[in-house]
Amino acid sequence: MNTYVCPVCGNADTRAIGFLNNKPYCRKCLTFKGQEAKKDYQVNTKGDLYLSYPLTEDQSKISAQLIENFKNKENSFVAAICGSGKTEIILGAIHYCLTNGLHVGFCVPRRDVAIDLYDRFKTIFKDNSIALVYGGHTTLIQADIICCTTHQLFRYKDYFDLLIVDEVDAFPFHNNETLNSIFYRSIKGNYIMLSATASEASLKEFEKEGGKVLYLNERFHRYPLPVPEVKTGNRFALLFKLYRLIRIFEKQEKQVFIFTPTIKECESIYRFLHILVKKGNYVHSKRDNREGIIQDFKDKKYMYLVTTSVLERGVTVKDLQVVIFNASHSIYTSETLIQISGRVGRKMDAPEGKVVYLSERYNEAIQESIASINKSNKNLQNLF
Ligand SMILES: [Zn+2]
Repeated sequence: MNTYVCPVCGNADTRAIGFLNNKPYCRKCLTFKGQEAKKDYQVNTKGDLYLSYPLTEDQSKISAQLIENFKNKENSFVAAICGSGKTEIILGAIHYCLTNGLHVGFCVPRRDVAIDLYDRFKTIFKDNSIALVYGGHTTLIQADIICCTTHQLFRYKDYFDLLIVDEVDAFPFHNNETLNSIFYRSIKGNYIMLSATASEASLKEFEKEGGKVLYLNERFHRYPLPVPEVKTGNRFALLFKLYRLIRIFEKQEKQVFIFTPTIKECESIYRFLHILVKKGNYVHSKRDNREGIIQDFKDKKYMYLVTTSVLERGVTVKDLQVVIFNASHSIYTSETLIQISGRVGRKMDAPEGKVVYLSERYNEAIQESIASINKSNKNLQNLF
């Protein structure tokens, strides 16, 4: 019997192949249907790179190495700590591709992050066109730079001379065979993977397959990560402490993300806070108009935003403070807590900020996250 192999995702599992009018179709990538990019797209090669601040020495070194690896047709993996300026180091490689008329793309698992990145690219590659592509946002799929979610890569078969992927280890890309096939299928040339939470094992694996691993361990503005403060108490006491914190931040005119472990908790915390402090809102994965609310927050229409893990990565807000409510909840691993703490102090002109864990108790994840941050800050001190 002939095995049918899906031309989109490479699936050959007969259990996931259906038949319609005697023709086979793949059930694994049913949702990946739509307009595909044309391979003969001509890139504007005359564009400049506009960056309002210089790269640090470390960033410049890695940036140059990435271009070198790409010229040598090698794949790269950059292991960074959160806040070390991952985006800055790939700008050179993107610019190199553009000036040579090559097809370049940047993809991430999550839509919010793609939008945030697109906004940054618009100010950095002013002379070039950029397509922002995610589910429900697919009118323009072709431009000099493609900025998309990993789900949308099915539109770019054998297309990218260079494809950069961030948060490779984040849901839903991680361990998803269909998404992985679509990723590799879209690459004509080479790729660069970025991660702030890569495991030692995955880096070894990458090197074994001939890729080059680079380490970026420096916070881009050379300021240490804020060490989280832990405040404990019963639920009632925590709510009261949260309220007091919000009042303090309000007086200082500082904006704050309040992370909550579940959608239910997110809504209930918001309902409580909203009675006392009006200028706020909430977002989670099921909330309508999430992008609009985040934009309003960036435009300073709100002073606090109650959120679930949807804002854990990517979205950059200047001079932000962070509170993690119920930080000992099992959803928070030490890595997640570090990732969230890294939301703070991301802009050069406002590198400091506060991270507060509100928790009924101390647990291992809380202790580990604080120990790691202290360790990473100490490394930073030794560097300079
Ligand atoms: Zn398929």
